[in-house]
Amino acid sequence: MKKTLLIMALAVLSLASCQKKQSESAEFVYNVDKFYDLEILRYKVPGWDELSLQQKQLVFYLSEAALQGRDILYDQNGRYNLRIRRTLEALYTNYQGDKQSNEFLKMEKYLKRVWFANGIYHHYSEDKFHPEFSQEWFVKALEETGITYDTAILPVMFDPMVLPRRMVQSGRDLVLQSAGNYYGEGVTQIEAEAWYEQHRDTSAEPVWNGLNSRLSKDKFGQLYENVYRVGGLYGQALEKVNYWLEKAMTVAENEQQKEVIRLLVELNRTGDLVTFNKYCIAWVQEQEARVDFVNGFTETYSDPLGITGTWESLVNFKDLDACKRTQAISDNAQWFEDNSPTDKKFKKEEVKGVSAKVITAAMLAGDCYPATPIGINLPNANWIRREYGSKSVSIDNLSHAYAEAAVGNGFNEEFMISDNIRKLADQYGVLCSDLHTDLHECVGHGSGKMLPGVSKDALKECASVIEETRADLFGLYFMADAKLVELGLLPNAEAYKAFYYQQMMNGLLTQLVRIEPGKKVTEAHMQNRQLIAQWVLQHCTNNEVEVINRSGKFYVRINDYEGLRQLYGQLLREIQRITSEGDYEAARVLVDTYAVEVNREWHNNILTRYEALNLAPYKGFVNPVMIPVYDRKGNMTDITLDFTEGYVEQHLRYSRDYSNLPDIN
Ligand code: ZN
Repeated sequence: MKKTLLIMALAVLSLASCQKKQSESAEFVYNVDKFYDLEILRYKVPGWDELSLQQKQLVFYLSEAALQGRDILYDQNGRYNLRIRRTLEALYTNYQGDKQSNEFLKMEKYLKRVWFANGIYHHYSEDKFHPEFSQEWFVKALEETGITYDTAILPVMFDPMVLPRRMVQSGRDLVLQSAGNYYGEGVTQIEAEAWYEQHRDTSAEPVWNGLNSRLSKDKFGQLYENVYRVGGLYGQALEKVNYWLEKAMTVAENEQQKEVIRLLVELNRTGDLVTFNKYCIAWVQEQEARVDFVNGFTETYSDPLGITGTWESLVNFKDLDACKRTQAISDNAQWFEDNSPTDKKFKKEEVKGVSAKVITAAMLAGDCYPATPIGINLPNANWIRREYGSKSVSIDNLSHAYAEAAVGNGFNEEFMISDNIRKLADQYGVLCSDLHTDLHECVGHGSGKMLPGVSKDALKECASVIEETRADLFGLYFMADAKLVELGLLPNAEAYKAFYYQQMMNGLLTQLVRIEPGKKVTEAHMQNRQLIAQWVLQHCTNNEVEVINRSGKFYVRINDYEGLRQLYGQLLREIQRITSEGDYEAARVLVDTYAVEVNREWHNNILTRYEALNLAPYKGFVNPVMIPVYDRKGNMTDITLDFTEGYVEQHLRYSRDYSNLPDIN
């Protein structure tokens, strides 16, 4: 749940749904910059011109509120980050020496990385970056340029032994060992756990204690929560966030949305978590407006104890065309249930489709920038999800930007078996992948029923892998159904093959580029894809699918697509049985047998070929620049988007205009 992250190397890269706009695409430059393992892209904001002036203003004010929180994330990611970023930026901007010299260029690359990670630790691996330039050069350059700085940053930047990881997930004291700034200095894991245990809310409608505070020690060594709020920790930034939120309130699309924003302003002002709950409930109930947003302390992955939220923001509006697609699927939810290959006793008599939204992102900030999710499912509190539901969104303009930016990067040429398959992928890959996500979200998860007395927790640690497998298979099985063509969701009876090929290639071979040599598959989504692909491969009766070795390269070959569909159906039937009966033993065997082990020969082969392509496995974005247009009387008459700003320019501008926090917080 929560966030869907795109595993980039794995997408089938294609242009299908965008081909009608080819002349526009030709002028739009998706690829902005590339360094180390990172690539910076640009995204389009289709539908912007359809918005009314009021809606554009709403997006604009919410976007300003998004950008005003930028420094918060830097500080959460490490207490030296703001000092380091500002020192680097000062040197980068004011350096009088040779800006083409080796050392300067190495410093520039390091700074680009720091911007990408919102700090000095890799956004994914959590490891500290090691500067390629020397400390001696750096100190001398700072002195020559006349920049004063805190010398405490030097060991933090240059000594690999000092604060080496942002978050540590195993070892003796996760809190003390993690460089992330979610706990005050000297707070230990035992102290933190005891504190949160003591402050756990066990009521029916609990507040999420610790979500918006740093647990710290006062001068007497007593623990207290330093709360993120106006007048408190990060207050200078939250005050600016509130300024723009209050402007947004004046152009809200309806009363409910106005209330959502009002509650957020109150939360930022007081830090009161009861208000946070009210805000989440109001937010999830607001379904009518075209514009929507996320803003605040949200996901807790970066706190080693999983308690405190990381600051993020995303401003977006509904993609009305694509929402018609999800609506069509939701409206036919009963048909899908009745026609799925599962046993009748595990089917729902009455099924209600979830209407997941498809949205267009207009501004990314905090932990959604530059690296970003392509789907979000919030809020996180289980009791709110149970009582009030959740919003599930997929962000199509971002996934399309990934796909379009990858055209011609050589990936499909290297890993797909034939021109035919590549052509299918080019024509239908994006369309199919959007559609599969919709089926997975709108009907897949909601399908089937538990037998009476079976607990939701029966599958224990296998639960999430099995559940994702079930939703994926539901989508895969129906991708090939004539019903989709009948509903106008696919153009013809061939299109689904693009997705079938992608699923098998990905699950068996290409997703392994993310695994280090010698390691196993551990991430739940990767396990689910491999489980499906490996199970199918090993249950072929008529060579429906095979992996072949052609001149030393491994490829997937599909010989019988209809047969493959039947295999997906067969596995779906079994996975549904396991879920409905809570058959933990069977779930465990499936996961152990098919999801975890890596075929070393294939793995080495794929890694070597991937490396030769010289692709960056991680992507991030620059945002568009929103430019208000005024008439002679000073009234705002329009807001236009500019897509020409570069990566360096954007970050320097953000640091100039949205630098709201002091160096030390
Ligand atoms: Zn899912």
